[in-house]
Amino acid sequence: MATVIDGKAVAQTIRSEIAEEVRALSQKYGKVPGLAVVIVGNRKDSQSYVGMKRKACAELGIKSFDIDLPEQVSESDLIKQVHQLNVNPDVHGILVQLPLPKHINEEKILSEISLEKDVDGFHPLNIGKLAMKDRDPLFLPCTPKACMELLSRSGVSIKGKKAVVVGRSNIVGLPASLLLLKADATVTIVHSRTTQPESIIREADIVIAAAGQPMMIKGSWIKPGAAVIDVGTNAVDDPTKKSGYRLVGDVDFEEASKVAGWITPVPGGVGPMTVTMLLHNTLEGAKRCFEKNH
Ligand code: NAP
Repeated sequence: MATVIDGKAVAQTIRSEIAEEVRALSQKYGKVPGLAVVIVGNRKDSQSYVGMKRKACAELGIKSFDIDLPEQVSESDLIKQVHQLNVNPDVHGILVQLPLPKHINEEKILSEISLEKDVDGFHPLNIGKLAMKDRDPLFLPCTPKACMELLSRSGVSIKGKKAVVVGRSNIVGLPASLLLLKADATVTIVHSRTTQPESIIREADIVIAAAGQPMMIKGSWIKPGAAVIDVGTNAVDDPTKKSGYRLVGDVDFEEASKVAGWITPVPGGVGPMTVTMLLHNTLEGAKRCFEKNH
């Protein structure tokens, strides 16, 4: 049976480490890190993610700046807001919750965020540096960073290993594959047009699943002893639950946990780590800023 990687527990350990560093910064500089979380509109899922992020800030002593804008806000007003946050010295990280309403160009907004405050790591320059040899981005995207942290804190070695990333999105699959490559894995990316994904995944020592396809990856697709990080978070109908649904990953956990060496559960794996990495990025941004201005 695989070792189940407890993302909640790892996240709690890292949060304590962050809280300790925030206290130390406050003593040394008389200032704390600040994170601006911008939300446009009333999407329920976005509001719940934003609520989690703001609550986590409060718990760790990070100051949160709450910017709530109406659904109809114009692109130019949103850009103005981002520019104000860019020059606010108490803000060290800016997060614009995605998706944005259709009338706003997401790419344009993300490019307006100051590189030094791009705690989501989605600025094209940060992603570009992630893709280049001997370049270091200022921030790593939170979910891929969470996957790498879970692997390293579980003692999974990456150098020289075969890794397969399932999914190639800008926010998870692509940056996860770049991080694995930087860590000296040999990386293959599987996507929706890949033929016979199971034969490719079966070769992998490390699998990062981020396809958004409930329980697509079966136990028989996993190499015995492999490390499996399941990013997928999919709601499937479940009449036995009060809510009428439950969350499952992209991996069939019951089957795969009998074959893998390590595996993350859904929920309780990558999810709690992603918000923690956002807080970690905010801390890093603040440290760079305090040191520069000291
Ligand atoms: P996305 O933008 O929809 O991208 C999905 C990727 O998976 C695409 O590259 C797509 O390929 C690929 N794909 C779709 N069906 C496939 C199939 N049958 N076989 C192989 N590849 C397939 O999704 P995302 O934003 O990356 O998110 C992926 C999953 O992670 C979702 O379940 C999401 O809820 C979850 N997530 C979790 C966290 C967390 O913190 N735990 C954070 C972010 C996302 P094409 O490029 O060819 O279309």
